[in-house]
Amino acid sequence: MPDTRAFSAASATSPLAPDTIRRRDVTDRDVAIDILFCGVCHSDLHTVRDEWAEFMPTTYPCVPGHEIVGRVTSVGAAVSGFNPGDLVGVGCLVDSDHSCGSCANDVEQFCPNATFTYNSPDEHLGGVTFGGYSESIVVDESFVLRVPDNLDPAGAAPLLCAGITTYSPIRRWGNIEGKKVGVVGLGGLGHMGVKFAKAFGAEVVVFTTSEGKKQDALRLGADEVIVSTDPEQMQAHAGTFDFILDTVSADHDINAYLNMLGLDGNITLVGAPDKPLPVSAFALLFGRKSVSGSLIGGIAETQEMLDFCGEHGIIADVEIIPIQKINEAYERMLKSDVKYRFSIDMASFETE
Ligand code: NAP
Ligand code: ZN
Repeated sequence: MPDTRAFSAASATSPLAPDTIRRRDVTDRDVAIDILFCGVCHSDLHTVRDEWAEFMPTTYPCVPGHEIVGRVTSVGAAVSGFNPGDLVGVGCLVDSDHSCGSCANDVEQFCPNATFTYNSPDEHLGGVTFGGYSESIVVDESFVLRVPDNLDPAGAAPLLCAGITTYSPIRRWGNIEGKKVGVVGLGGLGHMGVKFAKAFGAEVVVFTTSEGKKQDALRLGADEVIVSTDPEQMQAHAGTFDFILDTVSADHDINAYLNMLGLDGNITLVGAPDKPLPVSAFALLFGRKSVSGSLIGGIAETQEMLDFCGEHGIIADVEIIPIQKINEAYERMLKSDVKYRFSIDMASFETE
């Protein structure tokens, strides 16, 4: 494979800057993809700035990006499911050991030898894997997803992480039709959570710190919006929720949300703040409540989610940016000023 243009960070304090990276030659099982769009996930920012150093330290240079949609350019001799020209996606995973219990149970994200799309050991080229802030990528066929042709590629890209990360826990929780479901934080994940919860028939309430997002939340499908900094609005809903999906990327008080749950209610964390969140035992005991977590989804479930989105016309609400605006986009993401996902147009490399 020829070298490909990318944006990388040289250290935890460096901005992302133009770079050239190597992609491997296509093996028998590989699919080569020209990337059209890549969504900008808050996990990209956490990784670039080494905020998760305690759990998964960052190796530099770092090329983030795991919300990839592109077109197949070539396939290896043993590839049966894809042809040049196909519209495809790549999410957070590019390989696993194919032999452990997690792989056998279609939860490859928990495989002890999972290879993540960026910042994972790269067994083909050495060093670490490089993600989707680049023009092309080469991926094992079993980690390539089919993107329904009716979906706009820029808006479909965020489905590969924000989509599956919210779809999976909502599906696993059970039948949410008619249930009262809260979504905390209206960012990339949160706005997809609203769309899926609504599509599955829940009564959806958004908790936001941004009063200005109220109208958007209603337009996205929320039945009600609570400004979480207003104790009166919070108190009015105490004890009434069946399920809450918490997408917040920074420190916040989850006991306030435990207080929103009714009997046997559950709050599932998908947001990944770097610091521990204190949980009050009493907030759990009274009402037999539970806190759990969820990490993206397996490959089969990701395909199921994409097919569901194809059938229901669901994509992310995106602001398309050229790759040269990526550092500005990170600063806006930190200010909760994303409506509601940045999607990088890789055609912008041509203006380099
Ligand atoms: P995002 O677009 O930046 O959205 C996060 C939202 O959280 C913000 O829009 C804001 O919503 C709210 N928020 C931010 N700071 C806050 C604070 N200090 N207090 C209260 N609310 C705050 O981020 P994202 O891409 O959706 O990702 C969210 C988190 O999920 C990140 O930590 C990311 O790493 C993690 N993640 C996890 C998985 C997984 O598999 N579990 C997958 C992808 C991402 P309002 O303006 O509405 O308050
Ligand atoms: Zn992500």
